[in-house]
Order: sequence, then C-alpha cells, then structure tokens
Amino acid sequence: MAHVIVITGPSGVGKGTVIRLLRERMPSVRLSISATTRAPRPGEQDGIDYHFLGAEQFDLLIAQGAFAEHARYAGQQYGTLRSELEESPGEEDVIVLEIELQGARQIRESMPAALQVFIAPPSFETLRERLVGRGTDSAQTIDERLAVAGDELRAQDEFSEVIVNDRLGDAVDALERLVQGQLRGAID
Ligand code: 5GP
Repeated sequence: MAHVIVITGPSGVGKGTVIRLLRERMPSVRLSISATTRAPRPGEQDGIDYHFLGAEQFDLLIAQGAFAEHARYAGQQYGTLRSELEESPGEEDVIVLEIELQGARQIRESMPAALQVFIAPPSFETLRERLVGRGTDSAQTIDERLAVAGDELRAQDEFSEVIVNDRLGDAVDALERLVQGQLRGAID
C-alpha cells in the first residue's frame, strides 16, 4: 500500500501551491486526481485537474463503492476514487489527497496510518483576500467558501500536524519534513 498523506485546509489557504512546490522537490510524490461535479474553471483539464463528472455518474460511482471518501462541499460533490490509491508497481509511492474536512475524517477512520496535515491561514482575513484575489469564483461562491472555512478552522485541533501558511517557503519546508519523517517511520 502506498503512503497516503491527507492535506486539508480551507479554500484559499494555498494547499494547491504548497503541494505543487512539494512535488517539485519530491518528484516521487503523486497527487490523487479527485472526481467532482463542479464545472471546470478556465484552464482546468479533465483527467488532469479533476475527473469532471455529471451528478448521475457521480451517484452511480458512490453506489458502486468506487470512492475511498466523498463529500458534498459548497453544493457540489467531491471524492477520491479508490483506483487513485493503487500503488504503481516497483515504486515507493507517496500519494497526496488534497481534500476537505469531511473527506479527511473518513480517511482517518478507514486509513488510520495516513498522515493528516491541516494547512491554516495566518488569519481569516487573508483567506478572503486570497479568494477574491484569485478571481476564479463569484462573490456568492466566495461567501459560501468562507462560511465553510469557519467550520474547518474550528476543526484544526483534530489534526496532529498543523502548518500555518504564512511564508510559502516555510510551509513547504515544514510539509517536506513531515513527509520525509513519514517515509523514514515506515522504513524503521
Ligand atoms: P475546489 O472547488 O476549490 O477545487 O475544491 C473545493 C474543496 O474541495 C477544496 O477544499 C478541496 O480540497 C476539496 N476537494 C477536492 N477534491 C476532493 C476530494 O476528492 N474529496 C474531498 N472530500 N474534498 C475534495
């Protein structure tokens, strides 16, 4: 079984950027490609950024037990397909799941050995600034995401590992140390 690393944190905290920089440093880290019913944003590609599915298709996969976890977030479905967690032969795999809180809780139950990392913003206000600044979401979507973010931030104590994404380089250093530690722990 591959090493599974769950990375959670509110929308706009910079999870995607931290993970991208980690993967530049550690090319053996794979990113699980999630399925979602939300519409692609400009520039997003099916099968690369997400598996973009229709609602019926998503429900069918739930019924078939195809998801390792799934959750509804801001009116859309998101989930990790079990097939994403399969190990590629001959490689020591590290798979990162970039998922929201409910999904992280499900993985905590089903895969207690997985490392769970919460990425927190330096302040709630920085989340708003980043969501507005990235310009990909409508005002209504931003409000929905900020409402969820409040709940997510209150849940961060559930996570043994919390990284505050204040300075990006420091956040990537901290995540890299955790992942290396997890790999060493598996070998010892
Ligand atoms: P976005 O729409 O901004 O790409 O993602 C919205 C939220 O859904 C983010 O917090 C993201 O981490 C989360 N998310 C993405 N993929 C999955 C998934 O497969 N499962 C769960 N539970 N959450 C996901």
